[in-house]
Amino acid sequence: MVSITFLGTGGGRFATIYQTRSTGGMLIEDRGRIHLDPGPGALTNMARLGLDPAYTDAIVISHCHPDHYSDAEVLVEGMTRGGINTRGTLAGSVSVIDGSDGMRTAVSEYHMRLPQRSVAMKPGDHLDIAGTPVSITPTRHTDASGVGVIFHTTAGDISYMGDTNPSEKVTNAHKGSRVLILNITRPFGARLKCHLCSEDVADIVDTVRPEITILTHMGVKMVQEGPEEQARRIAEICSGRILAARDLMRLDIGDSITVQ
Ligand SMILES: [Zn+2]
Ligand SMILES: [Zn+2]
Repeated sequence: MVSITFLGTGGGRFATIYQTRSTGGMLIEDRGRIHLDPGPGALTNMARLGLDPAYTDAIVISHCHPDHYSDAEVLVEGMTRGGINTRGTLAGSVSVIDGSDGMRTAVSEYHMRLPQRSVAMKPGDHLDIAGTPVSITPTRHTDASGVGVIFHTTAGDISYMGDTNPSEKVTNAHKGSRVLILNITRPFGARLKCHLCSEDVADIVDTVRPEITILTHMGVKMVQEGPEEQARRIAEICSGRILAARDLMRLDIGDSITVQ
């Protein structure tokens, strides 16, 4: 059984500033526990759920925007048990690990040295993260070195497309994944450059053909429009199961996929 716990389902500048929804990213628990994109709210929601950061085995950061990384340094301290035990993996885009395009690294040099391994991820890379093989995919975003990730888990492939413009190349990289996680910042009729919106989902789903598509990283307008209603409208124009994530929702992936 693999599970995904959503520590936040908000994203984009204003949903993050005003915490319209939490922005803590998600935990993927397979062979180990991977924390993906720990933005503001990650630590608060772990505490709320009784999840100890000392049992996190890897932190993965898709790109260098604060809704994806702001809690990372404290989580590194948690993963390394206060900085005392050299353990775990920190993996991030080139912008996160080395800094690029006017962005400093997302964590300090000190925090970069605490885990057993700090590694930059580039599209086309194949890595082992906390015992789970992963493939790194491209994005089209304002952070040009941002990435998506496919986790090849014991329950099948889980795709996280990351913050991106809709793009055939980006979509094709995720073909055949069982679970597809999409950062849908805006609802129908409110396009925002360099992000996915509700009208992009049907085409992506019809190419990737996942068993389930999860909408997360929702901006203020998306939340105001009602994410469940957006998911229902999307499901009318494509063949897959579409689910709008809720803060603290857990997805259990075994022979079937269930929502807690
Ligand atoms: Zn974002
Ligand atoms: Zn971004």
